[in-house]
Amino acid sequence: MKILIVEDEANIARFVALELQHEGYETKSVADGREALEEATKNDYDLIILDVMLPSLNGIEVLRRLRQVKQTPVIILTARDQIVDKVAGLDLGANDYMTKPFAIEELLARIRVNIKKQMQQDRNVLTYGKLKVDAESHVVTYGSDAIDLTKKEFDLLVYLLSNRNVVISREQALDAVWGFDFYGNTNVVDVYIRYLRSKIDDAYGVTVIRTVRGSGYVIRD
Ligand code: CA
Repeated sequence: MKILIVEDEANIARFVALELQHEGYETKSVADGREALEEATKNDYDLIILDVMLPSLNGIEVLRRLRQVKQTPVIILTARDQIVDKVAGLDLGANDYMTKPFAIEELLARIRVNIKKQMQQDRNVLTYGKLKVDAESHVVTYGSDAIDLTKKEFDLLVYLLSNRNVVISREQALDAVWGFDFYGNTNVVDVYIRYLRSKIDDAYGVTVIRTVRGSGYVIRD
């Protein structure tokens, strides 16, 4: 488990890092807002502890920009009198907050809870590059854009994504998505592939669904 600590007060940063390492977490500490955003965007962390008052870019701004590309769990650290930061942070998608000064046990407990929550969510999410499909909430996004899919388009996409690298024939897709009692033509699969491509591949200039001539369709890694 990797945790990014963003805190410009060296004493707090050092103390938190030591405690987290003691608990078995791998940590990286940065003291500057811009650096934090770059680090959090470039590398994957299981959680980020983010102080609000930071040099170059404040924590709220770091969070706002990070959320345009990533959903890494974030616990923001605010000073006791900064209720505004707390509210703004939660509005922007912070998962939790702690008011300084805080008890380390409390922070450790919240880290555990938030990492666990994220893992449960991740289990339902299928991703392909910037494409994210939440099988539970049925929300489909490309980067920060929401993609509106019909039920059948969604089911077909989930089926292809869950069978990544496997060429799916029209008959298989028909059985899986439309059911055995569907008495139509397998052309319906081609039609829905076209819908998906126009909403995803064409809209974002990417190739997600590939055609395998004479066999069917596949999403390849
Ligand atoms: Ca600070």
